[in-house]
Amino acid sequence: MLTNDQLAKWDREAFFHPSTHLAQHARGETPTRIIKTAKGVHIEDRDGKKMLDAFAGLYCVNVGYGRTEIADAIAEQARELAYYHAYVGHGTEASVTLAHMVLERAPAGMSKVYFGLSGSDANETNIKLIWYYNNIRGLPEKKKIISRWRGYHGSGVMTGSLTGLETFHNKFDLPRAPILHTEAPYYFRRADMNMSEEAFVSHCVSELEAMIEREGADTIAAFIGEPVLGTGGIVPPPAGYWEAIQKVLNKHDILLVADEVVTGFGRLGSMFGSDHYGMKPDLITIAKGLTSAYAPLSGSIVGDKMWKVLEQGTDENGPIGHGWTYSAHPIGAAAGVANLKLIDELGLLKNAGDTGKYFNDAMRQAVGNHANVGDVRGEGLMCAVEFVADKDSRTFYDPSQKIGYQVAAALAAEGVIGRAMPQGDIIGFAPPLCLTREEADTVVGAMQKAVKSVLG
Ligand code: PMP
Repeated sequence: MLTNDQLAKWDREAFFHPSTHLAQHARGETPTRIIKTAKGVHIEDRDGKKMLDAFAGLYCVNVGYGRTEIADAIAEQARELAYYHAYVGHGTEASVTLAHMVLERAPAGMSKVYFGLSGSDANETNIKLIWYYNNIRGLPEKKKIISRWRGYHGSGVMTGSLTGLETFHNKFDLPRAPILHTEAPYYFRRADMNMSEEAFVSHCVSELEAMIEREGADTIAAFIGEPVLGTGGIVPPPAGYWEAIQKVLNKHDILLVADEVVTGFGRLGSMFGSDHYGMKPDLITIAKGLTSAYAPLSGSIVGDKMWKVLEQGTDENGPIGHGWTYSAHPIGAAAGVANLKLIDELGLLKNAGDTGKYFNDAMRQAVGNHANVGDVRGEGLMCAVEFVADKDSRTFYDPSQKIGYQVAAALAAEGVIGRAMPQGDIIGFAPPLCLTREEADTVVGAMQKAVKSVLG
């Protein structure tokens, strides 16, 4: 068997890690962490160290680790048919069944599912479908897409542009046009301290209206948003936000894309965040929870209104020129079928709602009164704790102090993984949806100790 030292050497020599400080890692200043196995909510590394993973990988292992039902489905599929493509009407039992199961669970008005491999490529697909749609409608000028500051929609060329976080733009020169960014519904950071939630929603709406007025509604095709902002800080929207935004979009014939890569399949205690907040999207992006990350698979769920136009487009222009070799890969699809069954059988939507509320309440009680905790917020099994240097004036820490990273490190020393979110001193939690109350107590207890050890 390879030794840890051998792996660490090869890791630094050969492995280009995503979202990593490359120079520090090469110098050995960041640790090499080789994870060996996992079960339920716990992961274990090659030294036998166990950690409670309260971020479910990258909020994706929704059914928890080590589910043999999914592993068996993958193995069976690989033995029977590891691959066949989905071009020109081809499919497999798994891919067709999964499309059917996704639509059964999707909000009303959805028509078809296109399968990709990652959240990023699903959003690339969405952008192309939106442009195709307006070209077929004879509206070639209607192409701009409005995203939000702090939104996360991937790190491809166009999807990186949609992402409204500086970290993901830094030094890449991603195309800014035809992407626009509007106000984030981030009440804690963006509202004036004496502004009501209602007034802040009106502010978000007027910012959007002003942008549409400035650019011209005839140039704007779509608006994309996560039902709950994820990577941007785990921020549930203020009450009434989505209803008010949708009114504006409908008035100007602007499509709504709900990016449900994180919120799809139960994280908020509802099957989709769109149901949770009464959104009526034209496109829904899905990934992570679709297979609980047992195999890579993503999708774009296309609504009736767009589907009719796409079909018409092919009558006029021939087959749609879009597809990946691995679209609807049978192994991913088999994992998806087994995963969606398991979510139902284990009652994970109900658990995400119930245990999620318990977890958020307990976190608020445990750390909410600390002098440097400005906000504890969440929905379902998503929770964030945001730190401030001064609570009364809501002054944030200088980023160079890396308070969030320090708390995440202290939390890890307590045996719990939370995520220092990439922009701001925020610790995010999004554990597997099978989390128990006892496990929730463990996370909250560890967080209380971690906050005390870093901030007193
Ligand atoms: N959309 C959202 C809302 C996401 O959170 C993510 C990933 N965190 C993506 C898209 C991109 O997904 P992927 O990393 O699979 O490309």
